[in-house]
Parts: sequence; structure tokens; C-alpha cells
Amino acid sequence: MDINIILLALRSIGDGEIRPKIKNLGLLYDINGIELTPEKINEYKENDLLITTSRYSYPACSVCNSTALHIIFECPTCKGSILTKDDMIVHYECNHIAPAEEFKHGDSLYTCPKCGKQLSKVGIDYGRPGFGFRCEKCKFITQYPVIKVECDNGHVSNIYDLNMVIVEGYKVSSMANNLAKMYEELVTATKTLKDYGLDADVLCKVTGTSGVVHIIPFMIKDVDRNVVIDHMPNPNDAVQWFKIIARSIDLPNVLSIVVTDKPIDANILATFNTSRIRILYNKDGLRLSELIVKEVLRMVEDQI
Ligand SMILES: [Zn+2]
Ligand SMILES: [Zn+2]
Ligand SMILES: [Zn+2]
Repeated sequence: MDINIILLALRSIGDGEIRPKIKNLGLLYDINGIELTPEKINEYKENDLLITTSRYSYPACSVCNSTALHIIFECPTCKGSILTKDDMIVHYECNHIAPAEEFKHGDSLYTCPKCGKQLSKVGIDYGRPGFGFRCEKCKFITQYPVIKVECDNGHVSNIYDLNMVIVEGYKVSSMANNLAKMYEELVTATKTLKDYGLDADVLCKVTGTSGVVHIIPFMIKDVDRNVVIDHMPNPNDAVQWFKIIARSIDLPNVLSIVVTDKPIDANILATFNTSRIRILYNKDGLRLSELIVKEVLRMVEDQI
């Protein structure tokens, strides 16, 4: 980061404290290093790019439901939260317990810092109970500090007061795979149409009248109304048509062109308004990019 930015940031703090914070982003979905928020993932799910495959549950703040949590250790006596963890020694005779370094290590023998006696035999003179947590404030030593949880919004709670949130796991839908496959063809068509001065775009987002955001594979914006183009290799699946029809109703100012690789069943053809949804059967097996360019240019010519 630029030093100017750091200096400005430092100045902006004034007398305020710069304190460490455990930054934890909470729930994220990782796709090979690309991190997506649950909101983004949900948007993709609503666009049928993802299919729910499993469920997971995570503890969350009982006040704000944040899953960005970190653990706090507290002293059970004074509630102090600055604790050190040390290997402990206990002197049996005077019952003093402290970190091993405090029993000064002279001539390979320990000396008790409280009573000054030398400790010689472990198990007889002194014990090594293992690690313990010592409170910096009241010096109390415990193996079991009080465990609390703090969320990124600063709400502190007991661990068993946390809520559980259920979240979903996903796999990529066949529609998303199909989009990925046709993506290069669509990019090629976009470039060609741009050379003709047409405003074409790939994988764009359009908000429908219902407020739903649709991911459109291919869209042309400057014919008299917007045109979207979908590719449906297998056009005799009623579910896919239902989605196209629903989207067409939600985007009233859009003409949908559906490119198919096979002829369509008459029953399906009868289910939609052909002035809003047009079929482009690729009977000559052209490349998708060629077919789209040809069709769009034909439409533009028809207007002139
Ligand atoms: Zn919270
Ligand atoms: Zn304490
Ligand atoms: Zn002692």
C-alpha cells in the first residue's frame, strides 16, 4: 500500500487506539481460490447455475447470526482476558505453582521463588502438572479458563448460547455447464456484431419486473427492443421451456430467441407466445457464433 495512504489513515485515527482484531469473514464459498459470499451464491442458485446437493450447519452469534466468530479465554476469578500459557511447576511443600522459568534453573536444579528451597526430585519435591493458563491481572493459574465467543460485531456470548445456521452445498448445474461451453462462441458473436456497430453483450444481468436478476447468456440492446439469445441443445424438456417462458414474462420488453439443435415437439411449441419467443433451429449445424451473427444481421436488415 502507498505510504501516503498509510499516513492519511494514521492521521484519521487521531487519539484513537489501533487495536488488533481477528478478522474473520464468516461464511464464504470457495471456488478454486475465488471467494463468493452466500448472497452471490444464492443469486447463482436463483439463476439455476447451481443445484443444492447437501446441508451444513455452523454456530452463529445469537444476537446477529454472524458466523465470523472467535474464541476468548477468560480468567475464572477476575474475568481478565490477558492470559499466558506456560509449562507449570508446583512445589509440594509450600504449594506454590508458577511457570517453570520462574523456578530459576541453576545447576540443573530448580529453586522455589516463594520459599527459596531447592527442588530435587520430580514427583517427590515438586510436580509438573503440564501447561496452565495464568491471568496477567490476578496471577490466578488454571487449566480451564472460561471459554467465550465473540462475533465480528463485538457480541460476546457463552459457547452454548450460540445459534446454529444451516447452509447449503452446491454443484454446478447443467445449465451453467452449457453456458460455459457456449461462452466462447458467444464472445466471438459479440465481437463480430460490435464490428457492425451493434451493442451485444455476453452473460449480462437484467432485473425483471419482479425484481429477480436474470443472467442472460447473450443480449443485443440496439435493435428496436432488446433481444436475448439462449442455446438449448435439447429442446424437448418442458422444464427448460418453463424457465424461458417465466423469464420472458418477467422481461416484457425483450424478444427471446432460442437456438436449438433439434426440431421442437409441436406440443411444446403450442405453449408459448411466438411473438415473444422465437425458435431458431440450427438445422444446418452452423457454429453458434455464425448462426447468431447471421440471424441478428437479418433482423437488423428487416428493420431498415
Ligand atoms: Zn453478533
Ligand atoms: Zn484473573
Ligand atoms: Zn516453595
